[in-house]
Amino acid sequence: MFAGSAAVVDEWTDVPFLPAIPGVVVAWIVSVAIHEAGHFIVARRSGMTPYCVAVIGLYAWASSDGWRVRFTRLPASVGGFVISHFDADRSFRQQMLPMLVAGSGANLLMGLLLGAIGAWFWPSSGGAYLCALAFFSACVGVANLIPVRNKFLDNDGLLLLHWLRGDCEHAPAMLMHRLNALSIKGITAENYPTEWIEGLRDTPVLGPAVRHWFRLCARQNTGAWSDIAEIGQEFEADVQALPPAAAKALSVFIQQMRTEVVFSEAMASEHDDGGICRHIDALLDWYFPALRPRCQALEAALRGDRVAMRGFLGESEKKMRKTHDLGYKKSEEIIRGSIMAAAK
Ligand SMILES: [Zn+2]
Repeated sequence: MFAGSAAVVDEWTDVPFLPAIPGVVVAWIVSVAIHEAGHFIVARRSGMTPYCVAVIGLYAWASSDGWRVRFTRLPASVGGFVISHFDADRSFRQQMLPMLVAGSGANLLMGLLLGAIGAWFWPSSGGAYLCALAFFSACVGVANLIPVRNKFLDNDGLLLLHWLRGDCEHAPAMLMHRLNALSIKGITAENYPTEWIEGLRDTPVLGPAVRHWFRLCARQNTGAWSDIAEIGQEFEADVQALPPAAAKALSVFIQQMRTEVVFSEAMASEHDDGGICRHIDALLDWYFPALRPRCQALEAALRGDRVAMRGFLGESEKKMRKTHDLGYKKSEEIIRGSIMAAAK
């Protein structure tokens, strides 16, 4: 596509090849951005909640404190992606199909539109660039509809094929999505169907480790703090069994889980055993900004500093205000109440 678009500009206009190259790079970035914007807009219109968007190296995450953006290196075979939570009350298939088609749909639509505008201004260099951009956008759209298995992410065409053919909606791999959808809706972990949580044990690769998260949240919300040390040990055993690449992909979650285990043990023993924040690093702060001040609030509560505790609780609450995850918000409210009750 790169060579094709550059050649279009080079051959059909007076613009020399080399200055056309930055134009083609821009065309590539714009085409991927159009593609992901299509996914994002239609996901929202279908009732889904997008929470993670990547375009080339730009990575945006809907944290509890609003959208956060940073640069990251994506695998060379992945231009971008949008990841969304489902609406628990609607058919997943009816949400997924329009969202999958929307990326390529946006590319083809923009291809037509920009091609028409470019043709109008032809043969000026601006018109030629617009035609090249239209060509590029259409190529990105068509390429994404051809089913290709990717090491990192199944592409739209392959996912579309799965969702059109099979009963993906009730596949065990969807259990995690079902549980997340309940959380988005405002249902907290102690009210999730136990068979869904236990079913994660049989889902491939990440399921067994992630299952402990829902078990842990259910215990935290009901004040069963002393049960959590055992969940922590089972979690560590499942982490040990993960392939190295999967453990790397889950590294933020692993640190989050370890922090929650340390937090819960401190709640159970009413004793700070060496710093409740000790597993929180800069990346965990970036993803879950309310976690550190909540842990600091417990540290303050256990040393009898009620003024500092209230300050940290207020800070943590403030960082939860923009969350889209209503179940997470409710759980944090319950936990803040437990910290106040534990204050010496
Ligand atoms: Zn796509």
